[in-house]
Amino acid sequence: MNVFSHPEFDNHEHLSFFCDPETGLKAIVAIHNTSRGPALGGCRMFPYASDEEALRDVLRLSRGMTYKSALANLELGGGKSVIIGDPRKQKTEALLEAMGTHLEGLGGQYIAAEDSGTSVPDLKVMGRHTKHVAGIVERTAFDGQPSNGDPSPTTAYGTFVGLKAAVKHKLGRDDLTGLKVAIQGIGNVGYRLARHLKEAGAELWVYDIHQENMQRAVDELGAHAASADDILFLPVDVVAPCAMGAVLNDDSIPRLKASVIAGAANNLLQRPDHDQALKDRGILYAPDFAINAGGIIDVFYERTGASPEAVRAHVEGIGQTLSEIFTRSDRSGMPTGAVANILAEERFRKHSTAAEIAREQRINAG
Ligand code: NAD
Repeated sequence: MNVFSHPEFDNHEHLSFFCDPETGLKAIVAIHNTSRGPALGGCRMFPYASDEEALRDVLRLSRGMTYKSALANLELGGGKSVIIGDPRKQKTEALLEAMGTHLEGLGGQYIAAEDSGTSVPDLKVMGRHTKHVAGIVERTAFDGQPSNGDPSPTTAYGTFVGLKAAVKHKLGRDDLTGLKVAIQGIGNVGYRLARHLKEAGAELWVYDIHQENMQRAVDELGAHAASADDILFLPVDVVAPCAMGAVLNDDSIPRLKASVIAGAANNLLQRPDHDQALKDRGILYAPDFAINAGGIIDVFYERTGASPEAVRAHVEGIGQTLSEIFTRSDRSGMPTGAVANILAEERFRKHSTAAEIAREQRINAG
């Protein structure tokens, strides 16, 4: 297994391989870049078919976190961890505690949050042996509601803010009354996004592989039920994919009828060149790692203990970031995903230390 010559290796600062035979823990932590602050990112547990597959995932995902946090203007770097194993069969308290012990050994360079295969209670178990876990504190969320640490409500609100910025840019409208939106995936984020849109007057179409999730949106929000085959291809203004990645691909892009894509799911583009394919079709794509940053913003502020108002204000900055991306895309002719990458790189390459970021913020504050 190659590391330094691995295709996904991008000058990552640090890689750790953890093994604890007693509990069966096999884990990899990747710290991509810490120039803006400690590397924060999810701890994923998945039955990877090989160590190589786990390495690939952790290298790719940790890099993505550097870009997401920089684009969201957070004092955070990018990192990720993966535990190799089936969460339904191999996730024990002892294994999670062992992971916590290993994370403590990294001294706070990496902070773990929940991800697929891990939950807030799992992170709390790791937290028995380390303080370097996030997204576990019960507090008041950005909207004044009680929160158990789950960032989904903030992600949904950030996606709503970003969707509005995209609609304003592409369709020239602030008022969402009668805007037609199709949402794929009515889970933690999708349902809340649907509720924000409904309150703003939008007309909704929904699809979820779980019938009860879809029915809830139909019953409670008056949404139209769609099917697996048509949800992405309806004649609507906006498609909001909030289920899984890679839905923007060679097959789907030619069939899209919406003029805006703005959804929370990660890694929406199957390949990087699908960014250009969307632009060529005149479809405005809100890059996923820009629009779904509400969750990481929420987790960041849990650690600093900021007020709900401060969290809300920061999340609303997602709209400004997207507007800047759209404007730069128009000016340069580059597709929005490429512009978002450049903007993120400007933000994380500019700083070499957290002290520099703090100094710049003091200067900006006058
Ligand atoms: P979730 O598991 O609560 O919801 C996903 C929903 O999609 C579920 O209801 C599931 O039944 C449905 N689904 C799965 N496959 C589907 C398919 N093929 N077609 C239609 N529906 C399908 O997850 P979530 O927390 O709402 O996250 C949604 C997406 O947003 C994920 O891609 C996630 O990685 C991303 N995201 C979430 C957060 C967060 O804070 N939760 C932050 C950033 C990004």
